[in-house]
Amino acid sequence: MISEKNIEKIFETLDIEDIISDFVTLKKRGSNLLGLCPFHNEKTPSFSVSPSKGIFKCFGCGKGGNAIQFLMEHENFTYPEALKYVAAKYNILIEEAPLTREAEEERKERDSLYIVNEFARKFFKESLLNTGEGKSVGLDYFNNRGYDQDTIDRFDLGYAPRSGTALKSAALRSGYELERLKTLGLVSAKEFDFFRERVIFTIHNLSGKPLAFAGRTLSTDKKTPKYVNSPESEIYVKSNILYGLYQARQTIRAQDRVYLVEGYTDVISLHQAGITNVVAVSGTSLTQGQINLLKRFSNNIHLIFDGDSAGMNAAMRSLDLLLEQQANVRTIMLPEGEDPDSIIKSIGKEAFLTFLEEQNKDFLDFKLSVLPEAQSEDPFERTKAIREIVRTISLLTDQLNRSLYIRKAADRFKMEESVLVDEVNKALKDKIWKEKGRRQREKEREERNEVQTSSNETEEGPIVSAKREAAIEQRDFFQERALIEVLLKYGNEKMENGQSVYEFAIANLEDIADNIEDKRVKAILQSMKASHSKKGALDIQSLVGHPDSGVNKLVVDLLTEEYSYSENWENRWNIILQNQKPPDENFTQETEQVVISLKLRKVRRVIDQLMKDINKKIEDQNPASVDEQLELYMELKSLERQLAEKLRTIIYS
Ligand SMILES: [Zn+2]
Repeated sequence: MISEKNIEKIFETLDIEDIISDFVTLKKRGSNLLGLCPFHNEKTPSFSVSPSKGIFKCFGCGKGGNAIQFLMEHENFTYPEALKYVAAKYNILIEEAPLTREAEEERKERDSLYIVNEFARKFFKESLLNTGEGKSVGLDYFNNRGYDQDTIDRFDLGYAPRSGTALKSAALRSGYELERLKTLGLVSAKEFDFFRERVIFTIHNLSGKPLAFAGRTLSTDKKTPKYVNSPESEIYVKSNILYGLYQARQTIRAQDRVYLVEGYTDVISLHQAGITNVVAVSGTSLTQGQINLLKRFSNNIHLIFDGDSAGMNAAMRSLDLLLEQQANVRTIMLPEGEDPDSIIKSIGKEAFLTFLEEQNKDFLDFKLSVLPEAQSEDPFERTKAIREIVRTISLLTDQLNRSLYIRKAADRFKMEESVLVDEVNKALKDKIWKEKGRRQREKEREERNEVQTSSNETEEGPIVSAKREAAIEQRDFFQERALIEVLLKYGNEKMENGQSVYEFAIANLEDIADNIEDKRVKAILQSMKASHSKKGALDIQSLVGHPDSGVNKLVVDLLTEEYSYSENWENRWNIILQNQKPPDENFTQETEQVVISLKLRKVRRVIDQLMKDINKKIEDQNPASVDEQLELYMELKSLERQLAEKLRTIIYS
């Protein structure tokens, strides 16, 4: 763990412009810098960096944060990795503080799994390159495939010998624990080597550490499974891993395109031939986690698959999932019986690239070409095909995209566009309806739970009106959020009485601090309190770097939002602002409004709760016990009146 002091030093030293410029070309635009967003595909720049606020924000895809978060997102660093990167860049020496015991244990366990896998990786490689069996069986196989030493190194290819205990013995001799070998699936429950007489493919994480292995048999015996894989472990979760991404990630980003193929050898053969933006789904069908991972590098995903029925079915499934995740997906079907490996061997890199360019189809052309019903003259069959196309189009959330495909489909089916629009709209409504139903059921479930906790409540007494109750029912998020917005923007500004905006707000809101509902708002207030008591002022930078991504996102959104409060005021609070000045000139008034409104709302909530309690006691024929509460009620009512009056004065002043 990096010490608090070092983290502070890193944040003080780093220059966000300097850091992001290493990855994005930025141009000056007013006080900000503008560039093409590295997180989504765009032609006109919407990626903005504010050196004075120390944040970046993309107005296209919504990503935002500070320099450290940029590095975490862009380079797939963990938080400490990003800090270390910056420390190295600016020559900041860091001494690491000790971890808590639990974290230490956990890290030790994970580290030791990586260390054992690293031992296995070396063992397999040694066996491949420096043993008679490895050379004559394994290396011979790889050489026949055309893999040179560079490729073997880059992909950590190896060989698992026939013996059955060679790895286990070597590992135990070197002091590794049998239990860990078992956890990783390198040694079976019966204590034999799991991989025997197989060539080995190492599966890496994004920083190149060995997570797992796959072994391919060279035996022609039909009963032997062709591939076996390491089981999942604490460090290896199949659904979040793509084979080859470690080796491919830079080219994918540079070319803004990735080829998704079926097998390990497809990936390696294409790399060997010089096409290096290729990855494979290993050992599962494509998952949402894998798509999200891929989309961090490029949204342009080209599916390459065999034309046999198994390949086609897998492609159909992947296609829907990719479209749902809004990937820009193209499909490339290979001639039956061919795979990327065989094709590139026979025609070479350039011809293969041309083939990929010429053969790639969007989902509509692909489905039309493979749905037998689409070619049929039988209206019943054609309707089936149209339904399928309509269903697929309705997966697209982008409206422009949808209408482009509707036009195209109408053209292909030679039918009125409006008919298809209707059909797609029906499918969409259906989808939304189902989604709404699901949400509604969830909400009802939540409400039932809430009611159970206060099920003794009967009808409300005369004092709480139904309308008032409904207004109170709304959550307080908008007001709480407005408070944070004001504090972020003007927290350190001085008000007329010499207090800072932050000090004014906190002094006025102290008694309702416990009533803040939103967790993120609470977390932000806590961080502000810590930084204020330490430095006597707010440190907005440390908030932008908040480790909770929800908190951080809220901070960045609020910092980059302009004039947002006025809309909230009008829509949410039914208050029209008169003679509104630009907020920067007007921070005193804005602060007072926000603070008093929030306080008023919280006071009203307390009053209502109090009223419910009082009514209940009266119903229970226990009126004597309410005296104290009634007194409090009167006090709060008077406070409510004062606050409401103050708010009116501020607004109409
Ligand atoms: Zn973006």
